Amino acid sequence: MANVKVAVRVRPLNARERADEGRLAVQVEDKLLRVKNVKLDGRSDGAVDSREKLLEFCFDYCYWSVDPAEPHYASQEEVFQDLGVSVLSGASEGYNVCLFAYGQTGSGKTYTMMGTPDSIGLTPRICQGLFRSEDTFPDEQNSSRVEISFLEIYNERVRDLLSGGEQKKRASLRVREHPEKGPYVQDLSQHVVSDCKQAMDLLEEGIANRITAATHNHDASSRSHAIFTIQYTQANLENNLPSETVSKINLVDLAGSERADYHYCRDRLTEGSNINKSLVTLGIVISALAQNSQMSSSCQSINSMASEGDGSTVGSHSSSLSGGGGGG
Ligand code: ADP
Ligand code: MG
Repeated sequence: MANVKVAVRVRPLNARERADEGRLAVQVEDKLLRVKNVKLDGRSDGAVDSREKLLEFCFDYCYWSVDPAEPHYASQEEVFQDLGVSVLSGASEGYNVCLFAYGQTGSGKTYTMMGTPDSIGLTPRICQGLFRSEDTFPDEQNSSRVEISFLEIYNERVRDLLSGGEQKKRASLRVREHPEKGPYVQDLSQHVVSDCKQAMDLLEEGIANRITAATHNHDASSRSHAIFTIQYTQANLENNLPSETVSKINLVDLAGSERADYHYCRDRLTEGSNINKSLVTLGIVISALAQNSQMSSSCQSINSMASEGDGSTVGSHSSSLSGGGGGG
């Protein structure tokens, strides 16, 4: 059973949008995102138009990150306090957690997941949080283990972003299914880390190895899906016998969806079609998970009504959150 949460984040207009005198067509109010059809602005002829003037969408979280001077501006830290902290608490309870950013090229996925040196994003904050909680419980320091791997999927091929040598780096890896542990990437390097600095160094090394290219919307667009995996193993006692709880945190920075442009060279078009193909597949998976989650929450509300209105949510085997860019 999966617990799926969806967030949306609105970023500032970029230089090109400002030069084109672009206007923001969205507003955020609590969990509601309103999309305004700006083409209908200024029409005073009173004509009935079949197009909706305002469309409303409801999310688990809505972040307005347009201007830091505004009172309801959502900073990287605020996004972390909601999404990052629940990733960490899910993992410490032994669940597998996946957090990913989905959206058009240039919508702010990499900014949200990785951030910039001045304004770090969710992935480095989650690494910091993981080791901070270990400092809080020094007795348990030796009883847990953190292993990191980092891969990218580029043109349907899986590449290890942390394999070191140039030759090896380009080799594509195979995805296999283990009868007990589920899907895994064969020969993907795993790196044991014992402090936050080591984790951050691996993150930086992998980011530097990612494939980026200039596109219409973004001059350093990520052309691959990147998955940063933290395997968190906690040693504990079960019925007085030593046992281990293994949680996987998958932090995914997806490549952006983008319309094909006839100015693009063949490489950009091939990348774009592979990106769109994989995003469509992911969309089908998310819909199925969301449907299951809706079904389980309606079962839960029936159960809780039966047990005299206890409103708490049911525990799940894996939770998934999505922090997305504003472009859709
Ligand atoms: P994507 O990964 O979705 O293609 P990026 O995250 O690289 O897009 O964002 C595109 C540009 O917009 C980058 O220069 C980034 O720093 C900037 N940007 C994105 N989101 C924000 C935000 N919330 N606040 C400030 N700058 C942002
Ligand atoms: Mg990106």
